Amino acid sequence: MAKNNAPTLMDKLGSLCKRRGYVFQSSEIYGGLNSCYDYGPLGTELKKNVKELWWKAMVYERDDIEGLDSSILMHPQIWKASGHVDGFTDPMVDCKECKMRWRADQVDRDKGCPNCGGELTEPRMFNLMFKTFMGPVENEASVVYLRPETAQGIYVNFHNVREAGRQKIPFGIAQIGKAFRNEITPGNFIFRTREFEQMEMQFFVKPGSDEEWFDYWKEKRVAWYERLGIKKDKLRFHQHSEKELAHYAKKAFDIEYEFPFGWSEIEGIHNRTDFDLLRHQEYSGKDLRYYDQEANEKYIPYVIETSTGVDRLMLTALVDAYEEEAERVVLRLKPQIAPIKAAVFPLVKKDGMPEIAQKLFADLKRDFKVFYDEAGSVGRRYRRQDEAGTPYCITIDGETVKDGTVTIRDRDSMEQFRIDQGKVFDFLRERII
Ligand code: ATP
Repeated sequence: MAKNNAPTLMDKLGSLCKRRGYVFQSSEIYGGLNSCYDYGPLGTELKKNVKELWWKAMVYERDDIEGLDSSILMHPQIWKASGHVDGFTDPMVDCKECKMRWRADQVDRDKGCPNCGGELTEPRMFNLMFKTFMGPVENEASVVYLRPETAQGIYVNFHNVREAGRQKIPFGIAQIGKAFRNEITPGNFIFRTREFEQMEMQFFVKPGSDEEWFDYWKEKRVAWYERLGIKKDKLRFHQHSEKELAHYAKKAFDIEYEFPFGWSEIEGIHNRTDFDLLRHQEYSGKDLRYYDQEANEKYIPYVIETSTGVDRLMLTALVDAYEEEAERVVLRLKPQIAPIKAAVFPLVKKDGMPEIAQKLFADLKRDFKVFYDEAGSVGRRYRRQDEAGTPYCITIDGETVKDGTVTIRDRDSMEQFRIDQGKVFDFLRERII
């Protein structure tokens, strides 16, 4: 809650998410588990739709990108080679009074603890990887890590995928999957959590063409946000300074979104050079060079990475779509990602209307996620769907019984118009797929 006790936009969005079944606190009946969230019926749909939209743009619409689903647990040497065991650390400070822990770069040590003003310790390094043990013996030799990024699963499968997909450089590998980071300061709802899902694409190119491909992917990725329905003026690029660049990167741009808590990264585009493949070559002892038939030469490709988070994009879509109007709260989600595509209502529970509505509902649900509702006034039913982000409501009324037309009500304009009930399927298909 804000200091004056008025709920902030994030508070209001959080309660809408719970009320409508988008997001719940994980393990809620046990008091919750910090920074872990569960997605309810609508959240699950939204998540699936966001992932599908990305997969379509990355894999289905391109001949030069292949999909992959690698395992979360991998050989521990991978994380040595990638630099995560030694380098994936954040400096952190502890409050000597209230014992809260903070990322050293996010607090001013001279001002003391942001929570209680207490004195802060010297910064100490803290590794963000979750450690666990494989097999029955819990010792150093059986340590494995929950992956902190999906990218390494792609690098170690570079030749497998290239050969199976009969790909030549330049080509890419795309993957969607869970990643885990023991973040010191998770927060802002689902913006930064310890368990999250990433959508990463690694594009392998000939050294020397990397700058060109970097610019290409930078433009491609920012353009994709239009498909997600995000307002253009809420997006910007942030170029990493020398100091911000990760150990593996030659150049990096973040795509940032203007959240209620400020401009923040939603996607990273990195030129990772030949760092990762070279390191895996060194640590695995396998020759990971690519043989370029045309040039008759062998080289380690450079990698352009685009990396974003599903949960973070869901938050972006929800924040961007949330609007409060005089008599309603509405989520203006783009129809392609809206969890429910249409709601079907009989105007009243008599005169044959429920039967017609049920029939239409049964027909539509074979292809779309639709919702049937006959409870309460039509006005209240509209409001419920506005809050859920449903783009269209279809009402079966007295006219339908007479001439077979139905009323379609548009979520955004609140306009109503009639179409033949036989045309509802095409109407939805044109706007949603
Ligand atoms: P930050 O600086 O915010 O910690 P990062 O630079 O470490 O992020 P990357 O490693 O580039 O992030 O991760 C790529 C993407 O993965 C981010 O743009 C974000 O969308 C997502 N992501 C990273 N960490 C988290 C997290 N803890 N919770 C949710 N999403 C995350």
